[in-house]
Amino acid sequence: MGLQAPWMVTRSAFSVEDGRLDLYVDFPPGSRFVCAECGREGCPVHDTTDETWRHLDFFQHRTFVHARVPRSICPQCGVRKVAVPWARAGSGFTLLFEAYVLALAKVMPIANAAQRLGEHDTRLWRIVEHYVSQGVENQDLSEAPQIAADETSARRGHDYISLFVDMAKRKVVYVAEGKDAGTVKEFADFLEAHGGSREAVTDASIDMGAAFEAGIKENFPNAEITFDKFHVIKLANEAVDEVRREEAKNDFQIKGRRYIFLKNVDHLTLEEKEALSRLEAQNLDTIQAMQIRMNLQQLFTMSPKSARRFLDRWNAWVEVSDLGPMKKLAKTVMAKADGILRAIATGLSNGVLEAINGNVQAAKRKAKGYRTKRNLKAIVYLIAGDVLANSPT
Ligand SMILES: [Zn+2]
Repeated sequence: MGLQAPWMVTRSAFSVEDGRLDLYVDFPPGSRFVCAECGREGCPVHDTTDETWRHLDFFQHRTFVHARVPRSICPQCGVRKVAVPWARAGSGFTLLFEAYVLALAKVMPIANAAQRLGEHDTRLWRIVEHYVSQGVENQDLSEAPQIAADETSARRGHDYISLFVDMAKRKVVYVAEGKDAGTVKEFADFLEAHGGSREAVTDASIDMGAAFEAGIKENFPNAEITFDKFHVIKLANEAVDEVRREEAKNDFQIKGRRYIFLKNVDHLTLEEKEALSRLEAQNLDTIQAMQIRMNLQQLFTMSPKSARRFLDRWNAWVEVSDLGPMKKLAKTVMAKADGILRAIATGLSNGVLEAINGNVQAAKRKAKGYRTKRNLKAIVYLIAGDVLANSPT
C-alpha cells in the first residue's frame, strides 16, 4: 500500500464467512502531518474522521482499509484535511484498486469490470473519467508537427466523434464531438493550450471530405494536406460498387457477387477467382471499373516522381471510358491530386487511425454502446491515447 511513517497497519481482521479482509491503519499519538494546502511540515492534528477505502482483493477476498483521517492545523492555512498516501482525496478506493480498475477498463467493458469487482459501474466510470481527464489536460503537445484526423461513429445513425492523432506518437491526443470543420478549430485551440502552436503544424493527413480540409486550411496555415490513401481507395471502391449496382440491374451474373469486385484479388477464394476470370472474359462495365480502381491502387507503390505522370495517364484513360461513377471519381482525384501525391512523398497515412478506429468500434460493440458520448470519449483516450502516464502505479 506504500505506507510511510507515521502511518502503520495496527490491526487486521479476516472473516472467512464474509469473505473479507479489513486492514486498520493508524498513526501514533502526537504525530504531525504535512499541510495538504501549502505543504508545510509538522502540523499538529486538530481532529479525525473515520474513513474506509476499498483495496485490491486479497486473493478472492474483498479488502478494505480503515483509518481515522486527521485534519491538521497549519499556521498559514488553518484546519485542513490531511492527504493520505494510499488514496486520492474524495475517492472511496485506494490508488492500487484504481490502477486495477484502469487496467481492466483497457481490456473489457466497464459493465463487465463492475460485475467482476462487485461495484456499481458509475463508480468505476468516475475513476476512469478522473484519470483520463487529468491525463488529457496534462498532455504536452509542443512537439506534434504532423497530425491526422478522422471520424468514427459514436452510435448508430449519424452521430460522430472526431479523433486527432499526433503522428509521431501514433496516439489520439484529442477527441471532439461531431465531424465538422469546427472540430478542427477546437483541436487547434486545445493544441495551443497544451504547448503546441498552429503555425508549427507542417502536415495534416485527412479524408477527402470538405469539412476537415476547410478546418485545416483555416486553422493550420502552414500545414500541407495529405489525403490519406485509405480514403482514396474507399472512394474508388464506392465508385466501382455504383457501376456494379447499375449493371446488376440488367446482368444476373453480377448479382450477389459484390465482394469479388471490392476485395483485393489476392484475398479472393479459388472459387471467387474462377468466377472473376469468367466475368473478365466478357466486356463488363464492372470489370473495367475494377481495373480502374486497381490501377489507382498502383499509384501508391510508385516513386513520387513517376506518380504524377502515372496519375495523368490514369485520368486520361478514365476520361475516355463510358463509366459515369469512375469519371466522377477521377474528377475528385485530380482535384485533390496534390494532397494525394503528397501521401506518396511523405509516407503519411491514416493507417494508424484505421487501426484505432477498429479498436474503438470493437470496444463499443463489446460494451453494447455507451450511455453518453463522454463515456465513449473516455474509452477512446484510454485505449488509443497516451493519457495515463500519471495514473497510480
Ligand atoms: Zn498550510
